Amino acid sequence: MEWETVIGLEIHTQLATRSKIFSGAATRYGAAPNTQACAVDLGLPGVLPVLNAEAVRMAVKFGLATGCTIAPMSVFARKNYFYPDLPKGYQISQFELPIVHGGHIDILLEDGKSKRVGLTRAHLEEDAGKSLHEDFHGMTGIDLNRAGTPLLEIVSEPDMRSAAEAVAYMKKVHSLVRYLEICDGNMQEGSFRCDANVSVRPRGQSEFGTRTELKNINSFRFVERAINFEVERQIDVLEGGGKVIQETRLFDPDKNETRPMRSKEEANDYRYFPDPDLLPVELDAAFIETVRGTLPELPDAKQQRFMADYELSAYDAGALTASRELADYFEEAARVGGDGKLAANWVTGELAGLLNREGLEITASPVSATSLGGLLLRIRDNTLSGKLAKQVFEDMCSGAGEADAIIEQKGLKQITDTGAIEKIIQDVLDASPKQIEQYRAGQEKLFGYFVGQVMKATQGKANPAQVNELLKKRLAGD
Ligand code: ADP
Ligand code: MG
Repeated sequence: MEWETVIGLEIHTQLATRSKIFSGAATRYGAAPNTQACAVDLGLPGVLPVLNAEAVRMAVKFGLATGCTIAPMSVFARKNYFYPDLPKGYQISQFELPIVHGGHIDILLEDGKSKRVGLTRAHLEEDAGKSLHEDFHGMTGIDLNRAGTPLLEIVSEPDMRSAAEAVAYMKKVHSLVRYLEICDGNMQEGSFRCDANVSVRPRGQSEFGTRTELKNINSFRFVERAINFEVERQIDVLEGGGKVIQETRLFDPDKNETRPMRSKEEANDYRYFPDPDLLPVELDAAFIETVRGTLPELPDAKQQRFMADYELSAYDAGALTASRELADYFEEAARVGGDGKLAANWVTGELAGLLNREGLEITASPVSATSLGGLLLRIRDNTLSGKLAKQVFEDMCSGAGEADAIIEQKGLKQITDTGAIEKIIQDVLDASPKQIEQYRAGQEKLFGYFVGQVMKATQGKANPAQVNELLKKRLAGD
């Protein structure tokens, strides 16, 4: 039987506010345990939560960027459960009335087609604390620094049909929240993590199969591996005559498998009810318009503009707009170098290769956008051949300075003077009477030999196009 995979993601993004969603404690990552947890975060009796307006602004920004409806009124609800890292015994979240709902995210698939993934909703909630198991010898420590950190939980429709689509979606949301500057996107620190809901059904069947929920995945690689494993597992169960149980499972990256964690809880297990300590959030049109005014150029719009202004393919424009920093880098290199296509080739080619090898972000590039632009200028005015340019680029990467200085220092200037090249060709031909004879006798592949000799004599500095042209003329003419 042929099976179809169905996936919906719940992405948790930590909002980049300085203080917590309901208290004034700092949200900075990495502080000593429990130094950033105040009475509200500890859930001490008698305290009252006060909503952080910045978190509301950020959620609205996300909603506007994804075509969501912004709720004129949303409500915070208590989600009741017991866990050591949740001292109040409930998490403040949103249930029936989330702050935004019903937008979409467009993703680019490998075959170049784009696909629209629906957003069910995005709601505000508080993060829980963390249990610490290391260093406690059979006991568990609790760090409440993270308790009360604002989260925007972004819930997708079950619209994805493969692990690759889920990864493309997750990357797009990641890129978007960073463009919007509402989340730092740091996945190692847990600022951006997701739960993947996965089911399979016989292809052609309209009802969904029973799903499992894979918890707390914090890397693009893991989400792909976890889903692929889970799909295989579910198919095995079903083909073996069994039933998939609706449950929460944990992905173990070391063993590359998912394991049951607990049976799936239902909404009514949580006894949701409106939090009596918090007023409903009412947003008017003026507020929403003010937030709209703070939206930057978004990745999709930027991509379209790059395609139109620089004549780039959808693929290249997509790659260059993956982050705002990369897009800015590209535009600066293109501006200085005066050629968008050439800049795109270098940024997605040589530069991306270098950053990849060194494990560097674009912001830590050893070659600045302005310097790369300077190199492009020398390619465009024929000072450098493609090959020499790569040599100069390598020197720039190891800190040798600007392209012009390196060209000067190393005498790398390309030889474009026709007279000079003709003279070298003459020397080469004088020294190769036998090869000329063979060439004229029909061994045309010897042409490459002559080119090679000229390039060797000039240490690769002769302009290859001119060498080809002049050589052809010489060998035909005599
Ligand atoms: P819960 O609140 O229990 O987590 P929801 O119904 O809100 O459940 O759905 C959570 C996520 O699961 C959503 O992203 C949704 O798209 C996805 N989902 C729902 N049903 C399925 C299914 N049968 N297969 C895959 N994903 C599903
Ligand atoms: Mg869920």
